[in-house]
Amino acid sequence: MRILVSADMEGASGVTCPQDVRPGSEQWDRLRRMLTSDTNAAVQGFLDAGADEVLVNEAHCTMRNILLEELDPRAAMLTGRHKPLGMMEGVLEADAVAFVGYHTGGGEPGVLSHTYMPSGLLQLRINGEPASEGRLNALLAAEAGVPVVLVTGDDLTCKEAADWAPHARTVAVKTCVSRYAAVCLPPARTASLIREAAAGALEAVGRPQSVPRGPWRFELEFDATQLADACTAVPTVSAEGPRTVAFTSERMYDGMRCFRALTQVAAAAREPDYD
Ligand SMILES: [Zn+2]
Repeated sequence: MRILVSADMEGASGVTCPQDVRPGSEQWDRLRRMLTSDTNAAVQGFLDAGADEVLVNEAHCTMRNILLEELDPRAAMLTGRHKPLGMMEGVLEADAVAFVGYHTGGGEPGVLSHTYMPSGLLQLRINGEPASEGRLNALLAAEAGVPVVLVTGDDLTCKEAADWAPHARTVAVKTCVSRYAAVCLPPARTASLIREAAAGALEAVGRPQSVPRGPWRFELEFDATQLADACTAVPTVSAEGPRTVAFTSERMYDGMRCFRALTQVAAAAREPDYD
């Protein structure tokens, strides 16, 4: 059995503010050890339960955060950017997927809530429903017939996951107080909770799950008009309002790739702050 661990950082143990997840900062250097600890705990739980292979796919920012030298030697890690499916690279070859260090979506309550862009994208909606990275990635996994078996993050992420990954085990490593504050459990404690949850999570593999069918309408609501204007240069993308664009895709696989491309286009259209 092959397991993919998609490891983001905002939902890792101890992480509560932007400096914690900004590569190169002193805080990031400290918190990346907690992300490594969470990830390692998931890897070990899956291997304890009999998984044959575990691939960790780095899913945050530059995708160079986890300390390889501290990872269980039985795992392998995909590090670095420019992967066709980004956070979900490797899902098509997996039998199950775990979302470690995940967070709630843009415009929603939750620690460091956002959807792909840390700012600029107010909300992503898929077929009218607000969509976090977890929901989006879970739809892609479901289309590929791969169950989401484990989700870790803050308590609100775990609550939300009940909707898009109903058979997944969840571990709340912190309790949200505000977007930049949380009551955090120490990594020694979260590691044992995650390891235990991962070990029990493989029970969900092989259970029948429905395959979601398109078409999928993606709506991206930005916080400034030029971000939407820039996106309409992409074929099939239309303006739905001064700050909102939309496109439709039959398959989630294509929708995900178009959405990721639009976040790049919009990010390039951001201007420095002025007043
Ligand atoms: Zn991230």
